[in-house]
Amino acid sequence: MSIRNKQPVLGILGGGQLARMLAIAAAPLGVRTLVVDSAADACAGQVASLRLADWTDFAALEKFAAEVDVVTFDFENVPADTAHWLAEHVAVFPNPRALAVAQDRLAEKTLFRECGLQTPAFEAVDTREDLERALAKIGAPSILKTRRLGYDGKGQFRIKQLSDADAAWETLGANAHGLILEAFVPFERELSVLAVRTRHGDFRVWPLTQNWHTDGVLSMSLAPAPEVGGLQARAAALARTLADHLDYVGVFALELFVKDGELLGNEMAPRVHNSGHWTIEGAIASQFENHVRAVLGLPLGDTSARGCSAMFNWIGELPDATPVLNGVDSHWHDYGKQPRPGRKVGHATVCAQDTKTLAARVDEIARALQREEQAAPALKVL
Ligand code: AMP
Repeated sequence: MSIRNKQPVLGILGGGQLARMLAIAAAPLGVRTLVVDSAADACAGQVASLRLADWTDFAALEKFAAEVDVVTFDFENVPADTAHWLAEHVAVFPNPRALAVAQDRLAEKTLFRECGLQTPAFEAVDTREDLERALAKIGAPSILKTRRLGYDGKGQFRIKQLSDADAAWETLGANAHGLILEAFVPFERELSVLAVRTRHGDFRVWPLTQNWHTDGVLSMSLAPAPEVGGLQARAAALARTLADHLDYVGVFALELFVKDGELLGNEMAPRVHNSGHWTIEGAIASQFENHVRAVLGLPLGDTSARGCSAMFNWIGELPDATPVLNGVDSHWHDYGKQPRPGRKVGHATVCAQDTKTLAARVDEIARALQREEQAAPALKVL
């Protein structure tokens, strides 16, 4: 597709902050964005055209498909039927098969192993007896998770000791889509690799990101992750194998644990990802720009870091913007969402040319915002 001849329209299923940041990145490329969401206040609607519809409203989807050149996702849990139906009417990237694998923790971890990426020990659990059998193999501590529709630590129960099995089953056993029991990994660190692949198979990765979570939700990211040695090349090779296997087009994130210096696959997000938000200011081409480029068949931009970056996630409500706005090379992102406990409402990225300067800038902002606890783990490794 040539962006000179016609102004392409990018369709996005889901109108959250990821769609919003995709729309912002699409604009300089001359790409217009049309978002579908069932909520009238979907925050992408503040910067893109918004169509109100449910995922199963095929009459509305037909109209949408006729108006866009390409469809992509801000939300991976779009029903498989919707993704398949759309793929018959318009170009859909990533393809519905890749989406389906990433929607199911069991299929995802099975594929990781097939592609040479080790994972925590896991067992499928459909019945209370399965849970007993799985616990006999995996033991405690372990985590019982829903196979589908879990994100940000939702749909999970931590089994600290074997006697927690009843409580875990009571909480999650009624889930219609099945469960998975995973060994709890006492990891040394959490990393993610953001990768992008084009329709022609061109492939790039950004430098590895180190992440810290609170209650299963991303709290801080640091990039490039310090002292990764050979893990960068290993993560890039694994991401490429997975992407080629799925004929994946667009950006995806692979969330990884490091245990005994080795990578273990936790999950794959078939979309732009929170741990890649630093790329907006911290990389030559951001994850959002490269996703738009990839799905529209345009050449990829450079994924090199400009220096080093730290990202604070704002969960529940936004803090005072002033210290970030006053900071050097510090960048404020307000998603335009109503505050609500546990909701991602914004982030800030702090950049510098070297880690010492970055640490000083992060420390200053964290102190001004009384977010020392949030910044502490990142400051420890800077
Ligand atoms: P998830 O929704 O599976 O990405 O889980 C959210 C967070 O919970 C992860 O980023 C980890 O910090 C933690 N977590 C999930 N699974 C495990 C595991 N098997 N072992 C240790 N921590 C885990």
